Amino acid sequence: MTPLRIAVSTQRLARRVAACVSVWLMLVLTTFAVQAEPIFVLPAAERIHVQEFSRHIGLLEDPAGTLSVDDVTRASFSPSSLAAANVGFTTSVWWARVTLSNQGPRERELYLRQTYPLIDYLDVYEQTGPGQWRTHRTGDRRPFAARDIAHRDLVFPIYVPAGAERVVYLRYQSQGAIDISLSLYSSPELLESFSREQLAYGIYYGCVIMLLVWSSLVFIAVRDKAFLAYFAYVATFGLYMLIHNGLAYQYLWPESPRWGNTSLIALIMIALFAGLQFSRMILRAREVIPRLDLGARVVQGVAVVLLLASPFVRYSAIIAPIALLVLMGVIYMLTLGISAMALGSRPARFYVIAWSSFLCGSVVFLLKTFGMLPHTFLTQNGWQIGSLLEMILLSMTLSTRMNELQHQSRTDPLTLLGNRRLFDDRLPEEFLQAREQQRPLSLLVLDIDHFKSYNDRHGHARGDEAIKAVGHALRKFARKPLLGCRYGGEEFTVILPGVDCQTAALMSERLRRTIEETLHGDLAITISIGYACLDRGQFESADKFFEAADSALYTAKQRGRNCVVAFHERNPEGAPAQPRVAIS
Ligand code: GH3
Ligand code: MG
Ligand code: MG
Repeated sequence: MTPLRIAVSTQRLARRVAACVSVWLMLVLTTFAVQAEPIFVLPAAERIHVQEFSRHIGLLEDPAGTLSVDDVTRASFSPSSLAAANVGFTTSVWWARVTLSNQGPRERELYLRQTYPLIDYLDVYEQTGPGQWRTHRTGDRRPFAARDIAHRDLVFPIYVPAGAERVVYLRYQSQGAIDISLSLYSSPELLESFSREQLAYGIYYGCVIMLLVWSSLVFIAVRDKAFLAYFAYVATFGLYMLIHNGLAYQYLWPESPRWGNTSLIALIMIALFAGLQFSRMILRAREVIPRLDLGARVVQGVAVVLLLASPFVRYSAIIAPIALLVLMGVIYMLTLGISAMALGSRPARFYVIAWSSFLCGSVVFLLKTFGMLPHTFLTQNGWQIGSLLEMILLSMTLSTRMNELQHQSRTDPLTLLGNRRLFDDRLPEEFLQAREQQRPLSLLVLDIDHFKSYNDRHGHARGDEAIKAVGHALRKFARKPLLGCRYGGEEFTVILPGVDCQTAALMSERLRRTIEETLHGDLAITISIGYACLDRGQFESADKFFEAADSALYTAKQRGRNCVVAFHERNPEGAPAQPRVAIS
């Protein structure tokens, strides 16, 4: 590179750096300018929608809560550059100042909306002249009827005269968190956002109601308490959300401003208790993760104590510990799920995704509340969307549970074979199907020989081991589409769809020999098998079919046990003594 070129490129670089620095300086200066004078100049366009209006306000803390609006006009406000000015839990009163400047030729009608409605007292002073104020007094500790607009949020109409400025002071006082979340609308935008939100809430609460109906119906049908715990969780959390959105106050108890705070605490605590109860049940925490289960019970205990204490303690004193407990509770539930998942629990997979989506939604909501994420549909409704996803995914863990229950109700716990109920259901089905489709069907009934004396000699525990060994052999033998069941005691059945009599004879003999070789020495056992085949008789019903196989078993016992006997129609006492069929 020649010296000339180097000089030229250095010059270019210097120019670029200078340009960047000046842009940066301009940005900083404009920010300062905005911060120094939070006057919002109304755009000329008719339609206005400023979602994050809290960026354009001034803030003033009034720790003693004694300032009047006239005092406040003389005080100096500090600018808020945050998307939302969330000052959290505080005993101070907070003032917000909004200055709207209308440089157009006509008066403008606008709406200021406080989108976090759980503010106890919100007084709005709109300056109409020197020392003259139009006041609006609302908040969720005042009757709903006091609102200018009957809406779940606190919405105020503001008139800005042509070519003038209008200053509005908002006085916030609340025992809960003070989240100064303001938006500014012209009326068409306000109406549009109302109808959009109405749809979203309709979908949300529609789903909640559906899940409630579903879980209550399933509970009535199967009487499994996990469904009841789920119902309690969804009902209380749904109601909590209804309060959180301000809808409960609007529609459920508009005349009872005190009820909101009281029921809020009760609902959070019951939701936490029920959520933990549901988690412990669905994850079978007591058996799978006993130590963590103990911890969950401790959190449940604390929730009950706080619930009982809540009527006697001030809301402002109890709400912060409660928020902390809920956060810990949710993280704890996620830990329970991850631990159970690591140990191979099936429902835990959906469960972990469910609580993760709830936590994600909550984090997004918190980041938005503290102004770290912009106000968008997703961030604004993140918590709600996360909670809906969570409820739906939790209902899927219940479906897994339902499958498990159904499987359990048809499984014999000792041998893990099908039980009598499964056999009683399946035999008539297979019987009808085989007859309709003219396919072969065979049925084995088998029984351990001299088992009473086996028990007497070796004890009941060893007897159980022998039954388990037969179960194990039968599970290997009766792979799908065959079905092996424990009929009762030491008696078993095998349904063999599509298997004709000849094959059934060979298979039975193979099974008999396998069992004979399963246990050794003194512990060895033998079985007797009777079998019937659809093509070797006229059976009126599945019951008769079973009776036939059972009578063949009886004959096998009579013939000295440890043998296989086929039912034969001409000889109901059993077919002529079958050789211990030699098979390879
Ligand atoms: P047979 O060869 O005629 O079948 O003689 P058996 O002694 O096996 O006769 P029976 O069917 O009358 O006796 C069955 C015994 O099986 C009675 C009961 O003590 C024992 N039994 C039934 N269920 C169980 C069980 O679950 N575990 C154990 N250990 N024993 C069982
Ligand atoms: Mg027996
Ligand atoms: Mg028996």
